[in-house]
Amino acid sequence: MIVAERKTIPELVDILRPHKNILVLGCGTCVTVCLAGGEREVSIISSALRIASRTQGLGFRISELTIERQCDDIFIEQAADAIEQADAVLSLGCGAGVQAIAERFPKKPVYAGLDTKFLGVLEERGVWTEKCAQCGSCVLHKYGGICPVTRCAKHMLNGPCGGSREDRCEVRPDRPCAWQLIYQRLKNIGQLDRLNQIEPPKQWSASLSGGPRVIIREDHRI
Ligand code: SF4
Ligand code: SF4
Repeated sequence: MIVAERKTIPELVDILRPHKNILVLGCGTCVTVCLAGGEREVSIISSALRIASRTQGLGFRISELTIERQCDDIFIEQAADAIEQADAVLSLGCGAGVQAIAERFPKKPVYAGLDTKFLGVLEERGVWTEKCAQCGSCVLHKYGGICPVTRCAKHMLNGPCGGSREDRCEVRPDRPCAWQLIYQRLKNIGQLDRLNQIEPPKQWSASLSGGPRVIIREDHRI
């Protein structure tokens, strides 16, 4: 899922200061699961903004709404009336959701209330970790399902950098060395011989380095 984190209330107040009638718009999918932008967070942030407005004399009038997905026009339509009535929208969707709303309502200021962080998983209660950098050309099958692009701080594709201590990453000692995990995993599934193959330099043009990416499915186009 997409993992995001809420901006601070002082940051949000600064962003919203020029406006009065503000819609705080939540998203019911990824950012709900990572506790950043769902119905509950809309309510918490709205309350905090009302308090800030009262104490700082900002005159905010805050309304609240959460739709199932901000990155999908079908669901955006359900918020159309509320968005039209607001002076500005504080979106608690990911970066894609914010931009989808802004594109659908070109004359409406739409602001990001979250910092979109990464594609990851819930590792343990309250802890989300990055698992995929969306490189556009997945090599997980070669590394026992552990991504060296994302989970190795140096993106090493042909073995460890040599800097790990015990099983810890040299760059991020709070995280395990990805190559320790890859080795152990390949050993567990009987595929250690994969490490004898030299991986050529990665083709980064499939990643964001090649510019914004588009997928076109001709079989689904009308
Ligand atoms: S190899 Fe690329 S697509 Fe596959 S998990 Fe890693 S970053 Fe994601
Ligand atoms: S210690 Fe391991 S995870 Fe960290 S940069 Fe080196 S090879 Fe990558």
